[in-house]
Amino acid sequence: MIEVRGLTKRYGPTLAVDDLSFQVRPGSVTGFLGPNGAGKSTTMRMILGLDRPTAGTALIAGKPYRDLDHPLRTVGALLDAKWVHPNRSARSHLRWMAASNGIPDSRVDEVLALVGLTEVAGKKAGGFSLGMSQRLGLAGALLGDPQVLLFDEPVNGLDPEGIVWIRKFMQRLAAEGRTVLVSSHLLSEMALTAEHLVVIGRGRLIADTSVREFVDRA
Ligand code: ADP
Ligand code: ADP
Repeated sequence: MIEVRGLTKRYGPTLAVDDLSFQVRPGSVTGFLGPNGAGKSTTMRMILGLDRPTAGTALIAGKPYRDLDHPLRTVGALLDAKWVHPNRSARSHLRWMAASNGIPDSRVDEVLALVGLTEVAGKKAGGFSLGMSQRLGLAGALLGDPQVLLFDEPVNGLDPEGIVWIRKFMQRLAAEGRTVLVSSHLLSEMALTAEHLVVIGRGRLIADTSVREFVDRA
C-alpha cells in the first residue's frame, strides 16, 4: 500500500534520504525506526507529497500522492507540526477540513467520537493539552476513512496514558486491515507497538524485518 523506490533527498550538501526502498503492507503496524536526523520525517513528507524527491518515487496505493483522486480518503497523516487555528473549536476545525475535501459533515462527529473528543468538541483547540491536540490531529487524519495512515513520532511528549492510548489506537487501525507506518527513534517503543520494522540510519536502509527478528539479531 506504500511503496518507496530509490527515494533520495538532498538538501545542499546533506543527503537526508539516500536511495531508500521499502514497502509497507496492510494489517499490522510497521515501525519506521531511526535516530534523530536519520531522515524519517523527510521520507514521510515525500510520501505525502509535501517534499519533492531529488530522485526516486513514493507510491500510495500505486500512485504518487499528487495523482491520488481523493487524497484524504486514501491517506491520513499525523505529522509533527499539525496546524490548527487556536481560536477554532475542534469541531469547527474538522468541519472546515471536511468541507474543503468533499467529506460529508456527518463524518465530523463520528471521528470526534472515535478519538474521544466529543465532550470538548466545542472548546477552542488553543486550550488543548498535547494529548488532546494529538487526538484532534488524529481525528483529522481519519476524516476520509483512509486505508493508509502515517504517524510521525506521535507519542513524543505524551504522558504514559496518552502513549498507551495512541499505541492501541494504531494497532486497532492496523487490525482493521489498514496500512499503518509510525516513526520513532525508540526501539523500546516500537517493540511494543509494531510487528514489522523498517530501520534507517543516515538516510539509508539498515533493516526491513519483523520486530522479533530485529530484536533477536541485535
Ligand atoms: P517479500 O515479498 O518482500 O519477500 P513477504 O511478502 O514474503 O516479503 O513478507 C514476509 C512477511 O513479512 C509477511 O508476513 C509480511 O506480511 C511481512 N512483511 C514484510 N514486509 C513488511 C512490511 N514492510 N510491512 C509489514 N509487513 C511486512
Ligand atoms: P528524522 O525525522 O529522522 O529526525 P529528518 O528527516 O527530519 O530526520 O532530517 C534528516 C536530515 O535532513 C537531517 O540532517 C536534517 O537536518 C536534514 N533536513 C531536514 N529537513 C531539512 C530542510 N528543510 N533543510 C535542510 N536540511 C534538512
